[in-house]
Order: sequence, then C-alpha cells, then structure tokens
Amino acid sequence: MSRKRLEGKVAIVTGGASGIGAETAKTFVENGAFVVIADINDELGHQVATSIGLDKVSYHHCDVRDEKQVEETVAFALEKYGTLDIMFSNAGIEGGMSSSILEFDLNEFDNTMAINVRGSLAAIKHAARFMVERKIRGSIICTASVAASVAGNRGHDYVTSKHGLLGLVRSTCGELGAYGIRVNSISPYGVATPLACRALNMEMSKVEANMKDSANLKGITLKATHIAEAALFLASEESAYISGHNLVVDGGFSVINSCVP
Ligand code: NAD
Repeated sequence: MSRKRLEGKVAIVTGGASGIGAETAKTFVENGAFVVIADINDELGHQVATSIGLDKVSYHHCDVRDEKQVEETVAFALEKYGTLDIMFSNAGIEGGMSSSILEFDLNEFDNTMAINVRGSLAAIKHAARFMVERKIRGSIICTASVAASVAGNRGHDYVTSKHGLLGLVRSTCGELGAYGIRVNSISPYGVATPLACRALNMEMSKVEANMKDSANLKGITLKATHIAEAALFLASEESAYISGHNLVVDGGFSVINSCVP
C-alpha cells in the first residue's frame, strides 16, 4: 500500500469546486487528508464533494471577496474536523483578459484584485490566526500563475494580481516563519479548465490543443493533476524546509519566455 502523505491532516481548498482546486481536493483526500471545499459554485462544489466521498470532504459556501465568509470557512473546518493544517488558497478568476488598457474597466480590475489577491490575504490571515494560536506548523499555498513572472500584451488585471500575489506570499512567509508556518505558491502554465476556456474564449477541446501546441515541454500535456501533485508536495512534510518559494509548473515556459530573444 502506498504511503499517505497527509494522513489525518485537515485542509481548506478555496476554488475547490472546479479545475485545479477540485483535483487537489481529490489528491489531498487520496493522501489521507480531510478537506473543506470552499467555493461560490454551490451546485458544483456539492457534486465534487460527493464524488470524492462525504466521509472525508465537505463543501462550504465561501466568497473569498468577503472576509467574514473566509473566517466562517475556517471556523467550519475547525468545527467539522477539529483543526486546520493546510490552506490552499486557489480561488481565482481570469478577469479582463482581452481588454486593452485604453478601455480598461477599473471595476473589473477591482474585482480581479479582490478575488486573486485580497481573497488570498483573507485566507492566509484567518488560517494563520488559528495556526499561530494553536501552535500548528501549517502549510499555506497560493495558486499564482506564470503570469506572476511574465506578461503578454493583455490581461493587465490578471498579470498585476498574480505578480501581487507573489509579493503577498513572500511578505507573509517572512512574518509567519517565526511560528513555523510555511507560505508558498504554485505557478502553473496553462491547464484546460473552465477558467482557461473563458480566458482564451475557446471550447475545452480547443484549449487542450492550444496548450499542447504552445507548451515548451513536448510530449506531455499539463493537467490539473500535475498542479495537485505540486500542491501535495508543498502541503506535505517532504517540503518541511521550503517557504517563500514559487514552484513553477510550466515545463520551462517562463524561463524561455523571459530570455532576451
Ligand atoms: P476554474 O475556473 O476551473 O476554478 C476556479 C474556481 O474558483 C471555480 O470553482 C470558481 O467558482 C471559484 N471562484 C471564483 N470566484 C470565487 C470567489 N469569489 N470565491 C470563491 N471561489 C471562487 O479555474 P482553474 O484554472 O482551476 O483556476 C484555479 C487557479 O489556478 C486560479 O487562481 C487561476 O488563476 C490559477 N491558474 C490557472 C491556470 C490555467 O491555465 N487554468 C494557469 C495558471 C494559474
């Protein structure tokens, strides 16, 4: 029997009703964890929780834009499972991917920042408050993006939000290290999820083909499972001395694309 790397641990996965979050919730449970899926898509969230197994997973409505709901989600995890060891702050949106800066809607910018950055700040804050109080050497992981390191010529709010998220991870890892709490991020390249479909304005099959063609690493397609494995590593004791790190899962894309041509 394979070793379970998160035996008895308790995790919250924001944005866990779909894509990378749903796959990570499943991977965490397969590795022995109890998981609270926190999302705004209640129907899908309940479906995913049921498909993984309600003995190990619960769904809780949480809009990460609302700090109170984030705080309540942490309280829900404590009431249901007694503790909190892992916060996977993964909820995110693509924002105004195709908008020119010349026309950019600042309300859209505010909304993207409220979910992609402020939502993670709330998640880190409320997970850390509990971990510090109970002296839990927890692991906090945020989903950033290759857009945290490189930029195209659109997606101004998304790129800004993911660059900002890396700053948040770095600054909080500094403070929380004093309590033995680790804070890291994962930066995926494109994964065919509903978010990627909306960002590229393509159907899922076209997104998959597009990702395959544009990927740096040939012969393998990046899937949500690869990101879930990275999250598992950062959540587990195998990464016990890793904090403030941005684990880039992009087959080399951002290295190549940040080189001088
Ligand atoms: P997805 O659309 O499949 O999942 C995102 C989830 O977040 C959804 O379930 C959605 O309901 C939830 N969500 C949206 N707004 C929320 C809110 N206010 N509060 C709580 N939940 C909310 O997308 P995904 O691709 O799995 O994205 C997950 C993360 O990965 C995001 O942070 C995204 O920026 C990042 N990412 C994705 C890709 C990619 O190509 N798919 C690449 C790099 C980074």
